[in-house]
Amino acid sequence: MPATLIKGKPLAERIRAEVAEEVKELGHIGLVTVLVGDDPASDVYIRLKHKAAVAAGIDATDLRLPAETSEEELLAKVEELDADPEVDAILVQLPLPDQIDEAKVIRAIAPAKDVDGFHPFNAGQLYLGRPTLVPATPLGVMAMLVEHRIELDGARAVVLGRSDIVGKPMAHLLMQANATVTICHSHTRDLARHTLDADVLVAAVGVPAMVSPDMVKTGGVVVDVGINRTDAGIVGDVDPGAADVAAYLTPVPGGVGPMTIACLLQNAVRCARYRRGELAYPQ
Ligand code: NAP
Repeated sequence: MPATLIKGKPLAERIRAEVAEEVKELGHIGLVTVLVGDDPASDVYIRLKHKAAVAAGIDATDLRLPAETSEEELLAKVEELDADPEVDAILVQLPLPDQIDEAKVIRAIAPAKDVDGFHPFNAGQLYLGRPTLVPATPLGVMAMLVEHRIELDGARAVVLGRSDIVGKPMAHLLMQANATVTICHSHTRDLARHTLDADVLVAAVGVPAMVSPDMVKTGGVVVDVGINRTDAGIVGDVDPGAADVAAYLTPVPGGVGPMTIACLLQNAVRCARYRRGELAYPQ
């Protein structure tokens, strides 16, 4: 039997409707995104985020800075946004041009306004098992697994990829859901030995169709985070043929992608609640 497709769109739409209700209740949520330069992929991501934010009633400002912006100039802008009482949430789109140290900019964002959850304080809170603001993509994956009642307690979970944005936070969330987690990366030997054991396999490597059907456990759950632009269009990290082996599979496109945006909006609401003192932000 082919795998059940875990589609992201219906759940994402529900979350976005819930966010819209919360925005109404809160009155105003200020989100500022900052895009430095004109990277076409970043431009697409920013546009999608804005469209969704505006549709949910969030006051979203799309700040564009020239590619030659210096690190000092960007840091000064972030500092200004940190201090602005109208701004609840700040997102600096990555990657940044070479002359700017990304880590320094991420550290400059006020942790309670860090809607992406990339600040070391928020990353540390997740590491300690006390999540505050968590990166949207792994949050979206967890919401999809919960929605489909995928058993995580005691399950063997394998995460392919160890980026700060997806792989690492994903592994922490799965561990906190009591899965037994293995993290694989480009130095992992005999990848299939690990993946074939995975009750839940999350692929976030950025290599088109790298996970072949013979690497997937029969009856397993496969989450494909990959978004790879190829001549054949957008494809994931998992060969769609995995649907013949797995019990559940997230499609690309239409799987994790829509969830990332929905969870980013949820994070913006969280930032607003922190700033209003409705949720306690750890000091
Ligand atoms: P990244 O920063 O490039 O990290 C990729 C990870 O995969 C690294 O840890 C790397 O290992 C590992 N890797 C690369 N090639 C491998 C191989 N052949 N075997 C095993 N591991 C390998 O990428 P990312 O930001 O995490 O994104 C991963 C994918 O998810 C991309 O396709 C990206 O476009 C997509 N993405 C999608 C969403 C969404 O909303 N759906 C959001 C974010 C990202 P090393 O650490 O050893 O280099």
